Amino acid sequence: MSVLRVGSETIHICPGPSKVLARKPGGDHWCFGCRQRLPHTLVIYGDEEPSYYEPVGVLECSGCGRDRTEFGT
Ligand SMILES: [Zn+2]
Repeated sequence: MSVLRVGSETIHICPGPSKVLARKPGGDHWCFGCRQRLPHTLVIYGDEEPSYYEPVGVLECSGCGRDRTEFGT
């Protein structure tokens, strides 16, 4: 982790959660990339050690491998 100072603000630059902790079936969702309803995988990213970041879940499309369950993403 590095720290950047901008004026009086101190910004912590963290690599963020990058490790895949778990992969679970995420159910079927509409993919705006594939324009189909496809099974998705819920990928949980996080750090193994306790950290500033909560684990985050990302839906991964089985078609394109991306989370495009919301329009415009
Ligand atoms: Zn897709």
